[in-house]
Amino acid sequence: MAYRITDKCISCGTCEMECPVGAISQGDERYVIDPEKCIECGACQSVCPVGAPEQE
Ligand code: SF4
Ligand code: SF4
Repeated sequence: MAYRITDKCISCGTCEMECPVGAISQGDERYVIDPEKCIECGACQSVCPVGAPEQE
């Protein structure tokens, strides 16, 4: 299943630059992952300072 960004996100933007397929973008309240694009590589979870991305 695709990753999703939980409400722990502090909108630092680090994960957006790390995603190899451009699945992450800034949303209204936090960054969001497009589940259609996510290839479940886990890079966003690795770089996030607060552990916001989780695999569903
Ligand atoms: S798991 Fe990988 S492909 Fe999916 S959103 Fe995170 S960095 Fe992008
Ligand atoms: S790296 Fe973590 S805190 Fe930063 S924008 Fe991505 S999900 Fe949010």
